[in-house]
Amino acid sequence: MMNSESLPSNKENDSPLSIQEKESYKEVIETIGMSAEFILTNAVDSVLHIGRDGTIIKLNSIASAILGYEKTELSGKNIFSLIPVDYHFFIKARVPCSPEDGENEICCSKTEELFLLRFPDSDGVLNSYECIIFPYTEDDKVSFFLNMWIPDHSKNELFNKLKEAQGNYEALTETITEAVIMVDESFQILYANTSCKRVFGYSRDELIGSPFAMLFPAEVFSRYSSEFKKYFYMDSQEDQTVKKELEVLGRSKNRGVSPLEISFGNSRELEQRTIICIIRDISQRKNVERKLRYLAYHDKLTELGNRDLFHTDIEEFFRVYKSHQQLCGALLFLDLDGFKQVNDTLGHQAGDMLLISTAKRLRGLLRESDMIYRFGGDEFVILITKLNKQSDVELICRKILQVIQRSYNFEKNRQSHKVNIGVSIGVALLPNHGNDEETVTRQADLAMYKSKESGKNRFTIFSEELTLSAQNKWLIDQGLKTALVNQEMFLLYQPIVDKSGNISGVEALIRWNHPDQGLISPDEFIPSAEESGLIIPIGRWVLEHALLDIKELNRIMNRDLYVSANVSTRQLMAPDFPEIVDRAIKRSGIKLKNLRLELTESFIMESPDHSITVLEKLKEDHPGLKIVIDDFGKGYSSLHYLSRLPVDVIKIDRSFIKEIPADNNRKVINSIINLATSLDLGIVAEGIETEEQRDYPPLNSCQYMQGYLFSKPLTYKELLKFLNS
Ligand code: C2E
Ligand code: CA
Ligand code: CA
Repeated sequence: MMNSESLPSNKENDSPLSIQEKESYKEVIETIGMSAEFILTNAVDSVLHIGRDGTIIKLNSIASAILGYEKTELSGKNIFSLIPVDYHFFIKARVPCSPEDGENEICCSKTEELFLLRFPDSDGVLNSYECIIFPYTEDDKVSFFLNMWIPDHSKNELFNKLKEAQGNYEALTETITEAVIMVDESFQILYANTSCKRVFGYSRDELIGSPFAMLFPAEVFSRYSSEFKKYFYMDSQEDQTVKKELEVLGRSKNRGVSPLEISFGNSRELEQRTIICIIRDISQRKNVERKLRYLAYHDKLTELGNRDLFHTDIEEFFRVYKSHQQLCGALLFLDLDGFKQVNDTLGHQAGDMLLISTAKRLRGLLRESDMIYRFGGDEFVILITKLNKQSDVELICRKILQVIQRSYNFEKNRQSHKVNIGVSIGVALLPNHGNDEETVTRQADLAMYKSKESGKNRFTIFSEELTLSAQNKWLIDQGLKTALVNQEMFLLYQPIVDKSGNISGVEALIRWNHPDQGLISPDEFIPSAEESGLIIPIGRWVLEHALLDIKELNRIMNRDLYVSANVSTRQLMAPDFPEIVDRAIKRSGIKLKNLRLELTESFIMESPDHSITVLEKLKEDHPGLKIVIDDFGKGYSSLHYLSRLPVDVIKIDRSFIKEIPADNNRKVINSIINLATSLDLGIVAEGIETEEQRDYPPLNSCQYMQGYLFSKPLTYKELLKFLNS
C-alpha cells in the first residue's frame, strides 16, 4: 500500500496485492517504524487508521474516494456504527491484542487475513471491499490500519472464493430456524443470526457485543459457564469427553424462562477460539414429552395412574420405607360388583361414566398423599403411604364401601337410570404382608377374592389363613389369561342320540388342562371367564375349533352330524358376535343345518328383548342354523317370551332327569314336554345315566337323548373310534 518510490513497486500497478506482497508490507511497517501519518499519505490504496474500539482516527484520500465520503464525514466515526452488524465479527476477530487488554476485551491476534467487508456509501448502498488489517503500535498504543480496495472480480479467484464462503456461511445461518450465536472466550457475543429474534426476542443488533450471560437466568449461567468453557477446548466433534448437546434453561427478552437445547462447535483453527452455538427452544418438545409421559402413566378414561405408574410408585415406596419395621402403608385392591351388568345392559358409555364417577368419589375420599390407580376394567388400586394403625385402613375401607354404594345416575335415551353397585376390597398391609411389589399385590388381590367369595361388597384384610377356595379362584383367574395362548384348552364331544340309538350330533364341551392343577371343569372356570370378559376369545376359539372338527369328521366318516356349541350371554351380547359366527361358518365350510347354538334359559331371560333381536338376526343371516335352549325348566321363562324366542330345540335340565323316578317330578317333566310340543319345539333329554331314565314313559316324546348311558364326552379321536364301532 506504499508509494512506489518508497516501497517495491506493484507489478500490475492498480491490481490488488498478493498475500506475499501484503506480508512484506507488514514487515516494512514493523521494521522501519513509520509514523501513522507517513503511512496514510504514502499509501497507494485506501487506508483507514482505526482505534481498537473502532473509532476511525484518520483516512487517506484514496479511502475517501473509493468509499464515497468526505474525509471529515468519516473521521471520528466508529466503524461499527457504519457497517452492517453481521460484518462486525470479521473486524473484531482481527483487532490486534494490546497489553492493556482487560480480561473481557474483544481481542484477536489473528490479523492479516484477507476478508470481505460491506461498507455503505453516503447514499446507504452497500459495496463490497476486499480488506486486510495490519496492527500498528505507536507510543505503546495499539491501533490498526484497515486497507480496503475494490476487488477485481474476474481476476481474483481468492476473492470469489472468500465471497462465496462468506455468503454460504451467511445463507446457512440465516436459513436455519435455530438461533446461531458465536461467542468469544470472554463470553461476548460476536455474531448472531436473525432467528435469534424468534428464540430470544432480541434483535441481532441488541445481541452482538453483549454478554452471552444475558440469555440465561443468572444462576443457570453461573452453574453452566464452566461447562460451556469446555467447548473452546474440544478438539473434534468426536471428542468423547464433552456432550455435543446441552439442555439448559434460557431466558428470552419478554417470554421469560424456557428450556433450550444447545449444540456446540468451535473455531478449531484459531488460537483464540470462538464457540458457535446452535440453540433451539425446546419448550414445545418438552410439552409433548410431558404429555406423552402423562399418557404413558395414566388411564385415559379416569385420569388415574395406571399399572406402570403403580409399579414405579410402589418401588419407590419400598425404597423409602426399607428401614421401617412398623406398619406404614396399605395396598387396597378394589373390584366393582355388578359393573359388568351395567356395561352389558346400559352400554359402554354408561359403564365409562360409572368408572369416571367412581374415580371421582374415591379421589374425594382420600388424602392427597394416597395414590389411586385403575388397572383396567373395573379394577382400582389404592396405595396408602401414611398409616398409623390397622384400624385406620379399616375406616378407609368402610368409607369406600359407603361412597360406592350411593346410587349412580345416568341419562340414556333421554331416560334417567339409577344404578347401584358395590365393591369388593382386598387389603395388604405394608410392609407386614410383604416387602416387594409381587408379593403384596398378590396378597391384596387374594384378599379381594375372599371378599367376593364371601358375598361381595365388603373388605378383607389379608391373612395367611385366607381360604383355599379364594386362592383357587385367584389361580384360575390368573391362569385363564394365558390358557389359550399356551394351548391349554381343548374340546370334548358328547354324542347326542335319536330314538333308535343312532348318533345325530354332538355337543362340544370345553376342557382346561391347567399346568399345575390338572383338568379343570368348565363349571369352575366359565363363570370366571365371563366375569373377566375372557369368555369372548375363549368362545370364539370354541366355535372355530368345533366347526372345523365336525366338518372334517363328517368328511372323513361320510356322515352328516351336527355340532351343538355352548354360547354364554356375554358372547351373545358382544356386538361382533354375529361376525364371529359368520367367520367360523365360512372358515370351516360347515353346512348350516349342522350347527346348533346352545344358550341357557336363565341367561336369555336376563335380557330377553336383546336376545330375541340377536337370535332373529342370526337365524335370518344363516337359514338352517338351530337355536337350543339349554337347562330348560330352571329359568322360569315366561310363556310370553318363550313364544317369541326364535328357538328350535329345548334341553330338559339335568336336575329333572336326575330325580327320575320321583313322582312329583313326572308332572314337571310332563308340563315341560307339553309346552315344548305345543310350541313345536324339538326336545333333548340330557344327563341320561340309567336305562330306567331312558325308558321313563314321560320321556317318550323326546326326539333326542344325551348322557353317560350312551357316551361320556369324548376327544375327537375317541369320537372317531366310537363312530366306527
Ligand atoms: P351343559 O351345557 O349343561 O353341559 C352338559 C354337562 O353335563 C357337561 O358337563 C357334561 O359333561 C355333563 N353330562 C353329560 N352327560 C351327563 C350324565 O349322564 N350325567 C351327568 N352327571 N353329567 C353329564 P361339563 O362338560 O362339565 O360342562 C358343564 C357346563 O359348562 C356346561 O353345561 C356348559 O354350561 C358349560 N360349558 C361347557 N363347555 C362350554 C363352552 O364351550 N362354552 C360355554 N359358554 N360353556 C360351556
Ligand atoms: Ca349345553
Ligand atoms: Ca345343560
